[in-house]
Amino acid sequence: MDNWVENAGWFVGWAVLFLGVLLVLAYRRASLAASTCVLGLLLAGYWVFGSAAEWWKIAVSIPYVLLLLLNVRPLRVRLLTRPFLRSYRRLLPPMSATEREALDAGTVWWDGELFTGGPDWPKLMSAKVPVLTADEQAFLDGPCEDLCAMLDDWDITHRRADLPPEVWSFIKSRGFFAMIIPRRYGGLEFSAYAHSCVLIKVASRSATASSTIAVPNSLGPAELLLHYGTEAQKNHFLPRLARGEEVPCFALTGPRAGSDAASIPDTGVICRGLWQGSEIVGIKLNFSKRYITLAPIATVVGLAFRLFDPEGLMGDRADLGITCALIPRDTPGVTIGRRHFPLNIPFQNGPIQGHDVFVPIDAIIGGFSMAGQGWRMLVEQLSVGRCISLPSNATGGAKAAVYASAAYARIRRQFNMPVGRFEGVEQVLARMAARTYIMDAARSVTAGAIDGGEKPSVPSAMLKYHATELGRMIANDAMDVHGGKGICLGPKNYLGRGYQVVPVAITVEGANILTRSLIIFGQGAVRCHPFVLREMNAARNPDREAGVADFDRALMGHIGFAISNAARSLVMAFTLARFTKVPKVGPTARYFQHVNRYSASFALATDVAMLALGGYLKKKETLSARLGDVLSSMYLASMVLKHHDNQGREPADLPLVEWACRSLLYQAQEQLHLFLRNFPNRPLAAIMRLLIFPRGLTYFPPSDRLGRDIVELIMNPTAARERLTQHIYKTQQAHNPLGLLQEALILSTMAESLEKRIRVEGVKTGRVTALDIAGQITQALHLGILTEAEAAVLRDYEAKVSNLIDVDDFAPHELAAGAGSAS
Ligand SMILES: Cc1cc2nc3c(=O)[nH]c(=O)nc-3n(C[C@H](O)[C@H](O)[C@H](O)COP(=O)(O)OP(=O)(O)OC[C@H]3O[C@@H](n4cnc5c(N)ncnc54)[C@H](O)[C@@H]3O)c2cc1C
Repeated sequence: MDNWVENAGWFVGWAVLFLGVLLVLAYRRASLAASTCVLGLLLAGYWVFGSAAEWWKIAVSIPYVLLLLLNVRPLRVRLLTRPFLRSYRRLLPPMSATEREALDAGTVWWDGELFTGGPDWPKLMSAKVPVLTADEQAFLDGPCEDLCAMLDDWDITHRRADLPPEVWSFIKSRGFFAMIIPRRYGGLEFSAYAHSCVLIKVASRSATASSTIAVPNSLGPAELLLHYGTEAQKNHFLPRLARGEEVPCFALTGPRAGSDAASIPDTGVICRGLWQGSEIVGIKLNFSKRYITLAPIATVVGLAFRLFDPEGLMGDRADLGITCALIPRDTPGVTIGRRHFPLNIPFQNGPIQGHDVFVPIDAIIGGFSMAGQGWRMLVEQLSVGRCISLPSNATGGAKAAVYASAAYARIRRQFNMPVGRFEGVEQVLARMAARTYIMDAARSVTAGAIDGGEKPSVPSAMLKYHATELGRMIANDAMDVHGGKGICLGPKNYLGRGYQVVPVAITVEGANILTRSLIIFGQGAVRCHPFVLREMNAARNPDREAGVADFDRALMGHIGFAISNAARSLVMAFTLARFTKVPKVGPTARYFQHVNRYSASFALATDVAMLALGGYLKKKETLSARLGDVLSSMYLASMVLKHHDNQGREPADLPLVEWACRSLLYQAQEQLHLFLRNFPNRPLAAIMRLLIFPRGLTYFPPSDRLGRDIVELIMNPTAARERLTQHIYKTQQAHNPLGLLQEALILSTMAESLEKRIRVEGVKTGRVTALDIAGQITQALHLGILTEAEAAVLRDYEAKVSNLIDVDDFAPHELAAGAGSAS
């Protein structure tokens, strides 16, 4: 009996030692050769010192012999790599040229690190802090402030359904359309960060103006010309665009081609025709486009169409593919000028049709050599614009909503309390503020990366999706906090139009359901994964032998990577990642560690999903979307941590940082959990669950206490409130509600103490009997409860509050369409 126990003890001891060494080798990503050596030594020790029977020692050595053979490359290639490659080639879904171009576009940045299972934090933390140059700051403080002061959103959205002429000419003449155009062409040549800050400021004032400004600075004629235009085209168009003499639009979408934009049925046929009196070889265009921003007033249309050369006038390719050209508005055959009406946000937007429109070949952006390159051009440039326009506009709107809602919740009293002091409202305000922090962090850190030379295509999809979704949540919350004040439209309503513009942002530049379901993870898994693209390229390599060699290297790396991530996921889940290395950043260290943990679990889930489902994963959009959510949560949490660092790690901002990270990492956990619950291969799901959640779901969302801390920051005139809402238009000016709300917020601290005195010394003792505040102030003054000066302060405050909580009303006839205006 004793002998049996002793043997069992030895057996367990050796088993634990083997497993421990395996775990350490896998966790530390030891190479195949190093792992073989270490395990060989251990096995030799087992043979010498282990007390098991000979047959058992032989049995446990068999896997080791297989491992040893893996090191013999020619044998490995013959027995493992080649058969695997044959099956892989059969399983590999066919890739269209447009998909290939989308995958090749842009760069891989922090998104790539999150796929590694062990992100390189020093790489992110050492990235340059985005700052404004003196010129950029002067533009924000000068023309940008002036523009905001000129904007009367009710006038724009209700009376005119357009920007007033003086605003149009100010925007054009002061370079608002020329932020991405280099100075040598007369543009402002702003950094991505400055460009984003300008949009934030304008968006905090008017969604119509910010949408108008965003478009010429995003994907469109200027950007395409800059990157692909011929010198002649650049010299002709860019100075004119910079001066606002030309107004551009870019027309891709049509009635039959929305999300599936590459399927456009619009054609350009190379043929002979008459151009300015002479016969030339040109392009005859037929097209029908809709939803085109700035189209009704555009002078030059960037047009995407499919180019054909049936007569072989320019070469031997009949179908050249998607091509982009610049078409002057007044070209015969172009019908332009009608407007769509996007949800009461009347930026210029409308359809364009063209019937037998004839233009010369050099209308193609970049000349004939760029014929057929249109899709590549669009996806390459989309990665930058998509990081800036919509995320900045959404962030500007969110910042304004938080700034206004927190102040409103302080000055608006019900049940003798500021409504923001009620726990229910507190919770809503807290999440609004923390979500705004996430948006601001993501847009500013990513803009900084762009200024550092990145073209982050997967982050651009994450930013577009999450900034607009968070914006939607914040717009809803702001409405709830304001109650009826938010609902009644009119000159005094500063929320309604921001609420209405939300679906526009959700829909454009890749509608959100599609972006979440298909693009974020779909593109990320291939582009950012350290081995998948290498394997795909190797499998498609026409030089078969070179392909086998490449595939072998990638496959070996991939197998080691997957084993390592399984080990890392398990260890970090057990230890809650307490022992992982992170930058020295004090109270936020745990959040870095949790990102490490989810990165390993995510990398494991990604590999298993791709291996088990292959091309079918593309069709399983809900699984793909959930993995995309995990990736996005980690990306956004990383941006929050870097942003906090960029802002000097202000201790006061910690509640915002904590709430943001907690909610994002909780979401990562929940989406991984839902991914596992819905994974079709149940045994694999069970194994993954064991490796990812061996202790169950251990992460919790932010606490209520954290919410209260945040509300203290934003319902008081603190530096943290100002930092959170940096760059919005909050100047104290008669028609700027944000400035007026801040003014009232500053007064509220003193006013509240005076009101309390009236309540305690006057109302509760029965000495003050008036029901209205004006009467109470008068009585309190007579009774000596308030001094003259205090009564004046309180009267001033109450007048300001009355003005701010006031809503508009209209004579019945004023509201009918086309009936004119309310003042
Ligand atoms: C105000 C406004 C301004 C615009 N400005 C421009 C412009 O300047 N230039 C331009 O060319 N275009 C512009 N667009 C077009 C815009 O980019 C498209 O509206 C957008 O691409 C979506 O196309 P769609 O509206 O036809 O929706 P649809 O393609 O009909 O999509 C409907 C829904 O189906 C979802 N969906 C579609 N396919 C999938 C899928 N495979 N998986 C999951 N979900 C899917 C979408 O997410 C969406 O929710 C603008 C649109 C609007 C509304």
